[in-house]
Amino acid sequence: MPLIVQKFGGTSVADTHKILGAARKAIRAAQAGNQVVVVVSAMGKTTDHLVSLAKEITNRPSHREMDMLMSSGEQVTIALMAIALESLGYKAVSMTGAQIGIKTDSSHTKARIRSISTDSMRKALNAGKIVIAAGFQGIDDEGNITTLGRGGSDTSAVALAAALGADECEIYTDVDGVYTTDPRLLAEARKVTQISYDEMLELASLGAGVMHSRSIEFAKKFGVTVHVRSSFSDTSGSLIVATPESNTAVAGAAIAKNEARLTLVGVPDKPGNAMRLFARIAEAKIATDMIVQNIGQEGRTDISFTVPGNDLTATLDVLKTVSEEIGAEHVDYQENVAKISVVGLGMEKQGGVAEKMFRAISRKMINISMITTSEIKISTLVSWEDALETLREVHSVFQLEKTPSQLNSQLNSSELPLKPAKLLKSDLDVERLSGMEDILIEDIHLDQTQARITMPDVPDKPGIAAEMFERIAEAGIVVDMIVQSCGRNGKAIITYTIPRTMLDTAIEVTKKLADEWKSDKPLYNPTVAILSVRGTGLRSHTGLAYRMFKTLADGGINVNVISTSERNISITVDNAQGEQGLQLLKKEFANEMI
Ligand code: ASP
Ligand code: MG
Repeated sequence: MPLIVQKFGGTSVADTHKILGAARKAIRAAQAGNQVVVVVSAMGKTTDHLVSLAKEITNRPSHREMDMLMSSGEQVTIALMAIALESLGYKAVSMTGAQIGIKTDSSHTKARIRSISTDSMRKALNAGKIVIAAGFQGIDDEGNITTLGRGGSDTSAVALAAALGADECEIYTDVDGVYTTDPRLLAEARKVTQISYDEMLELASLGAGVMHSRSIEFAKKFGVTVHVRSSFSDTSGSLIVATPESNTAVAGAAIAKNEARLTLVGVPDKPGNAMRLFARIAEAKIATDMIVQNIGQEGRTDISFTVPGNDLTATLDVLKTVSEEIGAEHVDYQENVAKISVVGLGMEKQGGVAEKMFRAISRKMINISMITTSEIKISTLVSWEDALETLREVHSVFQLEKTPSQLNSQLNSSELPLKPAKLLKSDLDVERLSGMEDILIEDIHLDQTQARITMPDVPDKPGIAAEMFERIAEAGIVVDMIVQSCGRNGKAIITYTIPRTMLDTAIEVTKKLADEWKSDKPLYNPTVAILSVRGTGLRSHTGLAYRMFKTLADGGINVNVISTSERNISITVDNAQGEQGLQLLKKEFANEMI
């Protein structure tokens, strides 16, 4: 019998009337011949309300008791949902996380799922009951109630679907699917029919996702088909799958507002400094976002990264200490910046995305202060006032308002072949994962085909990146990695890598640009090695960048350029140290490799 997991978020069960509506959806699925597991959130804003009650008493409630308190919200909903189903003539049983056997670690308020036992759910399902499971909660080895972090019911639902081998996991919410960008910000945003796990992971972490990003990690690891749809209508929504049926170079655009950019200027360029910096930041429990290190000059380099705006003060405190510790020159920062990114699996196969994006931004005379790229994402940092306009331009230049088939017939382009995602289908693999949410490394890769060029002081003004990458593309050069960071005194540093065979042409183009801009001569390294670690959960497991830098530092390997994304950390090192770096990283991450 097919099995389906349906998850209803807070707004979908905000009152008893809505709970009855959700119950009817579950009944319809049962009548269609499915076994049904329903996962629910707390009603409406209940969790917020519970949190504020505790805050009325103290600003520092213990995390264990917060979990006890917050988990009560879902317990109310499961009971009401079961009562609703029974009143409609259906057999149902409600279960808490503990009753199901959702085992987590003991990090209260942000616990991770370790395992799920399916016995009790199966028994109830086989007895013809609809199972109602409390989202967001689990139980640790000592029997304490834990919660998975705010918004965690999505993760519960996808994890249950994975454990039960469900045919589909439906996420019912107040939007009717996944959009090319936030429809509240841009009216032209379009609902997508299908999107890949990887694209969704990048987008979810960019704050654009309708879903908790850990839930997408689950879906990807276990190959769960997720259907995001509206609880208030019957129209079908968006499917999140391994390989979408059709795709374009860019699938979506995202905006992350309220970020702050910090730069540690003049870091002595030697092994271990990046590691020390990110170790201190991780200790302070600050989540860094875009990390950029660029090529240094005179033995010093700058490292820039972004953090959520409200972590700025705390980060500045950390940087002050670190700066002294490693002998950096000073700390520079910019408040109120926003990150605008485009994401698309097709990007890997189709060049030209970067320069198109930069050109669109420059047409509005908007300045880009930082750039990072990964195979499926390009991110740019702009000031907050320019953010919305940047998003609109970028959305429109890639014609995201059009469906892939409208675009394909227009461009007459055939479908782009895609690498299928690696999935953990077999039971053996699942068992090997001691913790269901553990980090998974898919690939550790050494690329020795590239050369690196750096423009050390280009003018920091609109249009520079656009001009540069258009000219490079015109010369027939395909660029791989692009990193722009903030230089000093209104200058920017741009580094990019290209196939070695193209180096001479690239130097020629870049030198011409340097003359035109009256900037310093380009620096280049004809034989760099690019080391990348790619996986699922890199971002939610904050210590990974640190481990990578530490491993290399311990091996005496100096990291030149750093560029990060949700699924990927890429660095360049001297070619001679590439192979050694690869072996060290393989050893360090041996247990987490698929
Ligand atoms: N009720 C929890 C929260 O509000 C979990 C969820 O809704 O996903 O964060
Ligand atoms: Mg929610």
